[in-house]
Amino acid sequence: MILKWYKPDYIFEKTINITPQFLAQRNIKCIFLDADGTLRRHKKLEAADGIMEWIDLMHKNGIKLFITSNNFKSKVMPFAQIVNLPAVTFSAKPTPWGFIRARFKTKVPLKNTLVVGDQIFTDVLGAHVAGMQAAMVLPLFHEEGRGFDVKRNFEQKYIDLYIAEHGEFL
Ligand SMILES: [Mg+2]
Repeated sequence: MILKWYKPDYIFEKTINITPQFLAQRNIKCIFLDADGTLRRHKKLEAADGIMEWIDLMHKNGIKLFITSNNFKSKVMPFAQIVNLPAVTFSAKPTPWGFIRARFKTKVPLKNTLVVGDQIFTDVLGAHVAGMQAAMVLPLFHEEGRGFDVKRNFEQKYIDLYIAEHGEFL
């Protein structure tokens, strides 16, 4: 069964494939970014290839970026400093609380804000609960273990559906 709230509005192969033109066409002025699996490989402090340049490109085009991570402060803030972005940690996605905290700081309406993340249960569902559009990115790494297998199988249905509807990832 396909549930509308879990369905990503867009799926990008990588975060760095999101272009200023794509955002301008949809009147998006701000992005709430997941960190782990979206900007960096798990447990590695550095940004994934091309992320620093992509952040620069977004800023040059007037797009506000804000990290909204469910991870702990001690894991997120050192990374936020490296990429020089503001962040809310322990954001409790899919509840809207982290997004509300971030929205208070960005001052950009949620209808002009896009959520970008690699997980349907947190990032995509959370975006829709809060009334935002959700762009899923294919995860930069896969977590190990049984719970994650179940989750990834669920997510695969939505990824397959996206390909059936659109032919390819963005
Ligand atoms: Mg993630």
